Amino acid sequence: TMKIKMTTPLVEMDGDEMTRILWKMIKDELLLPFIDLKTEYYDLGLEYRDQTNDQVTIDSAMATKKYGVAVKCATITPNAARVKEYNLKEMWKSPNGTIRAILDGTVFRAPIVVKGIEPTVRTWKKPITIARHAYGDVYKATEMKIPAAGKAELVYTNEAGEETRELIHQFDGPGIIQGQHNICASIESFAKACFNYALDTHQDLWFATKDTISKKYDHTFKDIFQEIFDAEYKEKFDAAGIEYFYTLIDDAVARVIRSEGGYIWACKNYDGDVMSDMVATAFGSLAMMTSVLVAPDGTYEYEAAHGTVQRHYYKYLKGEETSTNSVATIFAWTGALRKRGELDNIPELMAFADKLEKATIDTIENGTMTKDLALITTMKDVTVANSEEFIKAIRKTLEAAL
Ligand code: NAD
Repeated sequence: TMKIKMTTPLVEMDGDEMTRILWKMIKDELLLPFIDLKTEYYDLGLEYRDQTNDQVTIDSAMATKKYGVAVKCATITPNAARVKEYNLKEMWKSPNGTIRAILDGTVFRAPIVVKGIEPTVRTWKKPITIARHAYGDVYKATEMKIPAAGKAELVYTNEAGEETRELIHQFDGPGIIQGQHNICASIESFAKACFNYALDTHQDLWFATKDTISKKYDHTFKDIFQEIFDAEYKEKFDAAGIEYFYTLIDDAVARVIRSEGGYIWACKNYDGDVMSDMVATAFGSLAMMTSVLVAPDGTYEYEAAHGTVQRHYYKYLKGEETSTNSVATIFAWTGALRKRGELDNIPELMAFADKLEKATIDTIENGTMTKDLALITTMKDVTVANSEEFIKAIRKTLEAAL
């Protein structure tokens, strides 16, 4: 049979450890036999990031801006232990942080729901999509250790050189301070991305901050959302029969747990970081969570929400069997291929993405799954597949469907 042709390359960002192993298996078994795969390849594996002084990460983000769609493998964010392990020149920053800082935009994370993997929260019937603001706050904060008594202030100097000062704290002894920022333009594009995504996917949008305590910082988020909603989206939401709902973050958490799901929960950067892992775990597994960064200029970067699965990689290196779940990484590829097909008007590519997703879900629902899912499924008599067997089982299901 003829392979599906592509016109524009996907930006391919390879990564680290076990997910790098899965990456190649997915390409060899599930993509290359069916698609004349066109990618512009960037190796974001830690060794090559170190060799290029992290330039490769910046280059891959710039290529994403140029072509519009990227697919990214999980990567190591170095810490002290990694600097030693890989003998790094520097403790390079998180690639995701670098890419998000260049692309701006909002990360949408949704669980992949399959029959037989039931959410821990009994009331949840539909997926909860978390929209994480991908710019600023604690991720771009400046911090200082205060060694001894003294005065800490916030100082803003305008272009005319005039200063505005606010006392942070008069220290009697040692302490710590932190300066966070965000940019109104980024909050506006976050709000618009969320409203647009709600309309696209026909789901309600919830948003929450701690505006009662943070009367300027968090309150600005609340105000910007409300102003944009009233001016540009209220009528569209009414027409679509969906709603925008704002509440306090603590109230939101309580309501989420009591809800049925089926909405988008917009979160500030840190809330989204924390809550997406909670939601993913409660829906079954971090390995069943998709993630896409949507930039204001309409650029998309798809990835799995989980990390490099380090523990499995060390087993793999010792020649031991692993049963690593490749579902979220497969869905990163299908998301990217579908979007490429949509932008380049290649319906076969979009259809292929649908079929590969269906084959993946069908394989699990027919009882073949990796160990992480086998441990939590309500199904009886399941077949536990190793990393490679699972991908090969999906290929079989896919070939039968094609
Ligand atoms: P992790 O997501 O790799 O693993 C967390 C836990 O979930 C582990 O117990 C792991 O066994 C399990 N798990 C995750 N994905 C799984 C899968 N596909 N199949 C089966 N089990 C799975 O996170 P971690 O261990 O905290 O971090 C490992 C490395 O990943 C770190 O170096 C970190 O910097 C990096 N990381 C990268 C990203 C990213 O690139 N987006 C995100 C998070 C962590």
